[in-house]
Amino acid sequence: MIRTLFSKEEIARKVEELGRKISRDYEGKTLTVIALLNGGLPFTADLIRHISIPVFLDSFAASSYVDDRSSKKLTVRSRLKEPVEGRHILLVDDILDTGHSLAATVEYFRKMAPASIKTCVFLDKKLDAPKPVSADYTGYEVENVYVVGYGLDSHELYRNLPFVGVVEND
Ligand code: 5GP
Ligand code: MG
Repeated sequence: MIRTLFSKEEIARKVEELGRKISRDYEGKTLTVIALLNGGLPFTADLIRHISIPVFLDSFAASSYVDDRSSKKLTVRSRLKEPVEGRHILLVDDILDTGHSLAATVEYFRKMAPASIKTCVFLDKKLDAPKPVSADYTGYEVENVYVVGYGLDSHELYRNLPFVGVVEND
């Protein structure tokens, strides 16, 4: 069974609010929105429909790992359609947990000399440890529990749920 944390309706209201804020902040500019795959896909798809300024849409698939010399590495599995040099980019992901993936992704994009780079996550997990990156736009904070739905998976399942919840065994 899945216990709902954020309903479809709550999510819709929050995404609309974020879209309006982003549109205000980037007024007069064109924004390149980059969905971080796969988790950031449903959120990005909803979010861009509430952004009223011109948007270029792209996506990016990568995962982070720590190598045997304890430095963070990013395995990139996709290519961008267009170079992002000189563009305002917004990286959109499902959840900020330890922040290692997003921090590594931001570093990767920074090397491409965009005009600006910001991040937007639907959820931010409350952790005791400090994070290497904080998101510029956040939907909700969540307790340190494993959540699924709205892009978030458990063994690749549940990404399609229209709500966010916690899997409970009974
Ligand atoms: P981080 O590098 O911030 O620790 O991890 C970020 C990634 O881990 C997220 O993009 C997501 O794929 C995965 N992740 C972290 N916490 C959760 C969670 O509670 N549920 C799910 N389904 N994935 C999570
Ligand atoms: Mg992810």
